[in-house]
Amino acid sequence: MRKRRLKYQYNMFISATKRSLLYHIPNFILRYAFGDRNGVYAMYESIKYRNSRANAEYVTVMFKMIFSLGCSVVFLPFVLLKYAVLILFLGKVYLPRIEVVLTTYCSLKCKDCSNLMQYYDKPYHINADSIIQVLQNLLNSIDSLTQLVLLGGEPLIYPDFVKILEFANENSKIKSVCIKTNGVFKLSDEMIKALKCKKIHLDMSDYGARSEMVSDNCQVLKKEKIAFFCQDRKPWFDMGDMTKRNRTKAQLGAQYKKCNYKCRCILNGKLYICPRASHGSDLKFFKENIYVDLLNTTANSEELKEKILLLYYYDKPIQACDWCDAGTDMCRPIPCGEQMTEK
Ligand code: SF4
Ligand code: SF4
Repeated sequence: MRKRRLKYQYNMFISATKRSLLYHIPNFILRYAFGDRNGVYAMYESIKYRNSRANAEYVTVMFKMIFSLGCSVVFLPFVLLKYAVLILFLGKVYLPRIEVVLTTYCSLKCKDCSNLMQYYDKPYHINADSIIQVLQNLLNSIDSLTQLVLLGGEPLIYPDFVKILEFANENSKIKSVCIKTNGVFKLSDEMIKALKCKKIHLDMSDYGARSEMVSDNCQVLKKEKIAFFCQDRKPWFDMGDMTKRNRTKAQLGAQYKKCNYKCRCILNGKLYICPRASHGSDLKFFKENIYVDLLNTTANSEELKEKILLLYYYDKPIQACDWCDAGTDMCRPIPCGEQMTEK
């Protein structure tokens, strides 16, 4: 038990330090030195995926990125000291990232959606009060959540989107909020108002003609000084269909170890290792038994904390891995956003 707790603390210490040095401090420098609100990750992706950028712009982006990361290194001793005290000595729980599904409705039907939206014949919205209760139970058991990701389906379809956003904005334990959208819908005035918060960041996918409102939304976001990042037809990785692979225990162990998609995802009050596990179970492809019920729980905050940490750093393959190609050689790049009806 003690050994396990030390392992969790070490993992949290490393991830909190890395995030501070690679994102929080560089983003702060970019925001205040260059007025750039979109952050260092957006810069990195724009360099990686937009090779056609004009040279001048490319050089400027590179300069800002290197400058902000370089400045960040200066803060290394302070960052190490801060998290050593908080996490290693005081035992505070700093979780890096958790996703919350608001709805299984989506405005697109991508045939390779890794979150399995293409399999929902009867999509549904999740009750907002239960989402807030679940988040409250989670936050009562931890000290800090670096990033809360709101997603669907398409979160902008969700009727109580603003209510959830307001809850996240007001809760000081949530340090940043990322919203994943496919850019099909125009952002309403009410949404824009709720998005005007320093800790919010929109992650918008651009699937060309299908993402009709991307350029309009980008213009509004720029004008309103809301941080966003537009994924410009970045390739996806194929996780395969929902047939059982019948892998051996050793193969599943190796796959789980290599998998980079353990996003820790909440669906219908339960915290799962990844969206494949949550949605695959919800769609009854299999019955995933590795999860933490954050809604119907009688555990007190200390007991729940232990369960959350155990799930968060779970190190054995789960049921869902045998219905998934992530972490294997089968998981290859594919074009993004191809629709079910397309040949
Ligand atoms: S837009 Fe996103 S959530 Fe919707 S089907 Fe496509 S990949 Fe899945
Ligand atoms: S099912 Fe397993 S391999 Fe697939 S994303 Fe989840 S943890 Fe990774």
